[in-house]
Amino acid sequence: MKIIKTANKITTELTNKKNIGFIPTMGCLHDGHVSLIRKSKKKKLLTIVSIFVNPLQFNNKKDFKKYPKTISTDLRICKKNKVDYVYLPQENDIYPEKKIVTKNKIHFFKNYMEGKFRPGHFEGVIEVVKRLLSHIKTTYLFLGKKDYQQLIIIKKYLESIKSKIKVVPCDTIRAKNGIALSSRNKLLDQKSLNTAGKIINFLKKNKNQIIKSNRNIFFINKIKEFGANKVDYLSAFNLKQLKKTNKPSVNTRVFLAYYINGVRLIDNF
Ligand code: AMP
Repeated sequence: MKIIKTANKITTELTNKKNIGFIPTMGCLHDGHVSLIRKSKKKKLLTIVSIFVNPLQFNNKKDFKKYPKTISTDLRICKKNKVDYVYLPQENDIYPEKKIVTKNKIHFFKNYMEGKFRPGHFEGVIEVVKRLLSHIKTTYLFLGKKDYQQLIIIKKYLESIKSKIKVVPCDTIRAKNGIALSSRNKLLDQKSLNTAGKIINFLKKNKNQIIKSNRNIFFINKIKEFGANKVDYLSAFNLKQLKKTNKPSVNTRVFLAYYINGVRLIDNF
């Protein structure tokens, strides 16, 4: 496994390389990330993991500062899973200019959910993806359904620039208690993790009710009763139409963002 720390070096290393599988991450790797790595290895791709906490996608400075960092464990996990290259860029490899101007206009699916509650978030995501993809000319891009809205927005962005990169959507890996694995779970104590588990199991059991209900306030209050401090949203979307819906169907997913002990968690099912 090679560890590459600069944009120039990764670009040089990958010149003329084919069949690349790229997994962009913000580190603090867990089995969710590992499932993406395994998918790439299974396809026999030259597998590249990047670890970069992208300041541009955090609308809240505190959230950025407290984002968990476990780099030596991350490298061990990558090595164990036979990653070929780990790309660890510094901020100035990604953003060499002093003042970053993002010109990305996202026209689809961005005024809801994460886009609504985290202004500028998706513009920041697209900016970092664009720059990482200019360093890593990948064949496949592995993205988790854990961040479903992000997955759709990146896919649509690539389509809009007529990119040939193939996006591989990967299922959400969950902990035993049902919550989606997330780097942010590291910021929670056992009691909070249990609370999150109760919330997710309760919501999953009542999925159809939530979709049909036009009184989401009932379920939002329930989430708070379990111990969440705040709920940003709980909404059902039809993923084909990219519209809110109150009809259960194979294309309908429930999305939520909530806070426990000041830590913001997102999930969808
Ligand atoms: P992150 O490090 O949170 O930016 O995530 C990097 C990639 O891993 C993204 O494509 C995420 O959607 C994906 N990912 C994060 N958590 C999970 C999970 N529990 N299951 C599957 N994929 C995940």
